[in-house]
Amino acid sequence: MTEIAGPSRPTPYRQIPDSFAGTLARNGLELRRAETTTLQVNVGFLCDQSCRHCHVSAGPGRTEVMSRGTMDAVESFARQGAFAVIDVTGGAPELVPGIEGFLERLAPLAPRLLFRANLTALAARPDLVDLFVRLRVVVIASFPALDADPADAQRAPGVFEASLATLRVLNAAGYGRVGSGLELDLVANPSGTLLPPDQSAEEERFHRELAAVHGITFNRLYTLANVPLGRFRSWLASSGHLEDYLQQLAGSFNPCAVDGLMCRNLVSVAWDGMLYDCDFNLARGLPLGGVRRHVSAVSSAPPPGAPIATGDHCFACTAGSGFT
Ligand code: SF4
Repeated sequence: MTEIAGPSRPTPYRQIPDSFAGTLARNGLELRRAETTTLQVNVGFLCDQSCRHCHVSAGPGRTEVMSRGTMDAVESFARQGAFAVIDVTGGAPELVPGIEGFLERLAPLAPRLLFRANLTALAARPDLVDLFVRLRVVVIASFPALDADPADAQRAPGVFEASLATLRVLNAAGYGRVGSGLELDLVANPSGTLLPPDQSAEEERFHRELAAVHGITFNRLYTLANVPLGRFRSWLASSGHLEDYLQQLAGSFNPCAVDGLMCRNLVSVAWDGMLYDCDFNLARGLPLGGVRRHVSAVSSAPPPGAPIATGDHCFACTAGSGFT
């Protein structure tokens, strides 16, 4: 891969000792890339919500969105990379100008095209739901809780009911319905500094309660710990919880989770075309393998064995059963 100096961006955090790397070493582990099968594309930080836990500090005031030129460079990279999965995320990708055409161009380039939906932003884009159906896009939607109070506290008043309404629209289009082949997955994260409960038990509870109370069905549920980055890290620091939360995550380190970490199989492209090992490193400003590279200057995915940049936020991925 060719290296290139990209546009300069402020590093949002002071450099701190990477205790995650030390923990790996003490456990006789090394975090290296396996085959890169997923291309994740963060199309920007613009969002209609300003969630307290957001690791990229997305919000209505953010102006960083992917340009048509960068979309073209990503498309060219995807064409050469032969990825099994392309994963489009944000911010709220629904709000990015030209997102429809971008999805149309990406869909033929990988067997699975994922779209990280913001259910309130998607409510205003029924045309996108039609496009998802036509392109067989896998929709992955944040849905933090089964009750309005915790969900609205994380996001904004009214978000819970608005999200339910959009899930009903997706169900009506066939998403999450048995036999439709249209996959609808949900992502739940706990409030504040709590760690997520067991994923399979939580998935059963969400299936049961969403069907019984709201008549809503979906395919899979992912439970994620809040990653100490962005707006969530700022809140942790200002409320005096940062050190305790980092220690809690580090104390829950599960060496068995390392092998399945998503950064081993994923390369992430930011809105400006810069490459990262994952969306969390993007938020942290840690470039791919520690070296700044732009998507327009590379012709292949990072190879197996290549290094992965890490920081203390990585403990969120290895806490308990971890997430991939
Ligand atoms: S934050 Fe990224 S680099 Fe760190 S362990 Fe998680 S996926 Fe890997």
